[in-house]
Amino acid sequence: NKTAANHSALTPLTLLQRSARVYPNKRAVIDDDMSLSYQELYGRCRQMADALRARGIVPGDTVAILSPNSHEMLECHYSVPMAGAVLNAINIRLDAGTLSFILAHGEARVLFYDTQWENQVRAAIAELEVPPLLVAIERKADVSEGLAELNFESLLGEGDPDASWMRPEDEWDAITLNYTSGTTGNPKGVVYHHRGAYLAALSNAMAFDMTAETVYLWTLPMFHCNGWAYTWAITAVGGTHVCLREVDTREIYRRVEEYGVTHMCGAPVVMNMLVQDLGRENLKLSRLARFALGGAAPPSSVIRKAEEIGFEITHLYGLTETFGPSTLCVPQPEWQELSLEERAVMMSRQGVPTHGLDEVDILDMLSDEPVPADGKAMGEICIRGNTVMKGYLKNPDATDKAFRNGWFHTGDLAVMHPDRYVEIRDRAKDVIISGGENISSLEVEEVLYRHPKVSEAAVVAMADEKWGEVPCAFVNPIDDGEEPTPEEIIAFCREHMAHFKAPRKVVLGELPKTATGKIRKNILRDSLSR
Ligand code: ADP
Repeated sequence: NKTAANHSALTPLTLLQRSARVYPNKRAVIDDDMSLSYQELYGRCRQMADALRARGIVPGDTVAILSPNSHEMLECHYSVPMAGAVLNAINIRLDAGTLSFILAHGEARVLFYDTQWENQVRAAIAELEVPPLLVAIERKADVSEGLAELNFESLLGEGDPDASWMRPEDEWDAITLNYTSGTTGNPKGVVYHHRGAYLAALSNAMAFDMTAETVYLWTLPMFHCNGWAYTWAITAVGGTHVCLREVDTREIYRRVEEYGVTHMCGAPVVMNMLVQDLGRENLKLSRLARFALGGAAPPSSVIRKAEEIGFEITHLYGLTETFGPSTLCVPQPEWQELSLEERAVMMSRQGVPTHGLDEVDILDMLSDEPVPADGKAMGEICIRGNTVMKGYLKNPDATDKAFRNGWFHTGDLAVMHPDRYVEIRDRAKDVIISGGENISSLEVEEVLYRHPKVSEAAVVAMADEKWGEVPCAFVNPIDDGEEPTPEEIIAFCREHMAHFKAPRKVVLGELPKTATGKIRKNILRDSLSR
């Protein structure tokens, strides 16, 4: 029989409790001018949970936070669910209208916010019928000038650091709420469960070979899928979290050297910036650091250059709906025999399922039957297992559609190789259909990135009278070189790929990005129709 002796709800909250017991005096988190030991971190989280409960927060309530990576942001990943509530970490780059939509839709009862965003918050709450309790995150004691009723430290002071915290009764209870970017219509609220968060923490720690020696630099925003569940994973292994508020390559380098950083994560564009800036200044890391690339397809040239300057690359693929990573490109021993270039091509594939999942397969778009593992037949990446969301908040239709036939449907198009490694061809909405042929924007980008004068590239569909759509490339040239001409780039592509796949038009300039550093193809597409 299931009793308290042999069964309890899985939750990542126990991971902090354990690390506080095992490593009480070890540094858990380093922020700009302070650090906390595991014991201190656990104490502050219990104290805030108690304070939230005293303010009337009950299980199931939403508590939102608008903050860059900080110790307060990390603490909320524990304190809020320790009060039985659901944490909604909001993207700091959103406009006031979207912020207002999210606060209303998620029914936030409390909003912790960094006072840098005072104006945004003012505009967002003006439209709310029931505004949340506003709590300022700032390093000054006095909030009399601002909107907030009190600040983080004074709210914390209302709680008892020795108070016991609420374990979820059911591991299927919600732990966090994360809104998708909403490139089409309003964003959807993805609800995570305690069970999945616990399993994702362990599985992602394994995927990235983490141990108690791990020093993790927060180059990835914690508001993105709860930092791909690394907010819980680093704590699970008893590693050290090093906060970073903004992606600044000099600051990354400085912190890596100062704190002996061993692991970090980010989108390929972040790695690309790092490779170029460190390369330009001829800076090399004094010890090997591991970097998990994900969130967008990494061109093999970026993987190769990163390895050349001493990063060890892990490639992850996932979505908000899957707690971040759901596949991992596990390097096989025999790949060691390959050249750096050939290995980079193998590593640019999305790979095999992480431990939290039962299966990742490529299903035919019409029949939902698996396509042959021949590296050619295209289908949709579909996922099943324990690190998949509960569903979309207050949106049963979208939830049912995503979960049809017992699979979570990702909307990404891919092939299955004979070695059962998945390789993405494109997002369904990014495929370019030219004269009835599908052109993968990633395939064209892969060639563009090989051009020596190209720093970043993105390819989108452009309307064309004859062909329906044709590829258009947006290219950011490398800083210190001679600017390439559009003609020379088109000629380079025609030389390296089928002519119908080569871009018809090339636009030079900076590329718009999301908070995680993904290139915003929707904006590029819109700029063509204007
Ligand atoms: P958004 O829609 O805001 O980008 P997500 O963060 O959930 O939201 O993005 C998930 C998508 O990012 C995936 O569906 C996929 O298209 C893309 N993606 C993530 N990781 C990779 C990867 N390693 N390779 C290719 N595409 C990726």
